[in-house]
Amino acid sequence: MTLLDGKQIATEIKTEIANEVRSFIDKGFPPPHLAAVIVSEDKAAVTYIESIKRSCKEVGFTVSIYQNSPTITKSEFESIINFINNDDEIHGYIIQMPLPKHLSSEQVSNLINPDKDVDCMHPTNIGKLITGDPTFIPATPLGTIELIKRYNIETEGKHCVIVGRSAIVGKPLALLLAEKSSHGNATVTICHTKTKELKKVCSQADILLIAVGQPEMIDAEYVKKDAVVIDIGIHRVADATREKGYRLCGDVNFEEVSKKAKMITPVPGGVGPLTNISLLLNTLKAYKKRFNIS
Ligand code: NDP
Repeated sequence: MTLLDGKQIATEIKTEIANEVRSFIDKGFPPPHLAAVIVSEDKAAVTYIESIKRSCKEVGFTVSIYQNSPTITKSEFESIINFINNDDEIHGYIIQMPLPKHLSSEQVSNLINPDKDVDCMHPTNIGKLITGDPTFIPATPLGTIELIKRYNIETEGKHCVIVGRSAIVGKPLALLLAEKSSHGNATVTICHTKTKELKKVCSQADILLIAVGQPEMIDAEYVKKDAVVIDIGIHRVADATREKGYRLCGDVNFEEVSKKAKMITPVPGGVGPLTNISLLLNTLKAYKKRFNIS
């Protein structure tokens, strides 16, 4: 069994990005600049932004955090977005979810400058993803595809089963895997809560990708022998045997499934580390477009 080590791949990609950034700075360009807008005191959101900040610093990006109170008015929020949209020194930005109820995420997505939309939220960028000519790819699917590419996992003609049809993970991943491309050409099945005989469908997968949001739901019975299993889920579950009182796990029962799979992602250390690397990759793409660097 091969462990798909996302942490290791993330380190490799960070080194590549840092080298590129250094070469741009040597040529007189400014460093790439990523901004994050956060309108929440949600602990997970704040932790995620902190990890992005660390990654940006490691690769030589400038990073700006626009931390706002959940009581911010719609017009105050829109002024911040307009400012970022028009600031030539910011090359890409994300708006961290969740947003308070008075700021609908659909309306907010429409405000983003599509050229700076490194989280791929604007309808234009989603449309381009569907037509197979993406400017940006949402972070988690992009990280998953990077993992597949860098481990040379053959997707052509394979049956990929994805459990989960969210707009940020399952659906874009399905499009990318079915795309006519070197990391695509797969036959893709998407499963959800209304799928009948989920175990049977999953156990037909050559590559099983799980984004179901249910801790350790996928056991060995869902998995074909020698399948590739990519676990996108991440959860904190109570564990009195641990010093912190909890442990992290995915949507897959790693203990059981790792004995049957040919390749599997650990949690933590699988897809997770590649998600914020994907934001760096998208920011670098936006930056290169801005300065016409090929
Ligand atoms: P959502 O809750 O938006 O979507 C979950 C999907 O799973 C839905 O399509 C739902 O079906 C389906 N589902 C839920 N329960 C079942 C079930 N019992 N049987 C079949 N299908 C089911 O989750 P996300 O896509 O946002 O996230 C999925 C997981 O990935 C989470 O664990 C999340 O924490 C993790 N995640 C990890 C990231 C990373 O960087 N590693 C980034 C983003 C997410 P239906 O549509 O019918 O409701």
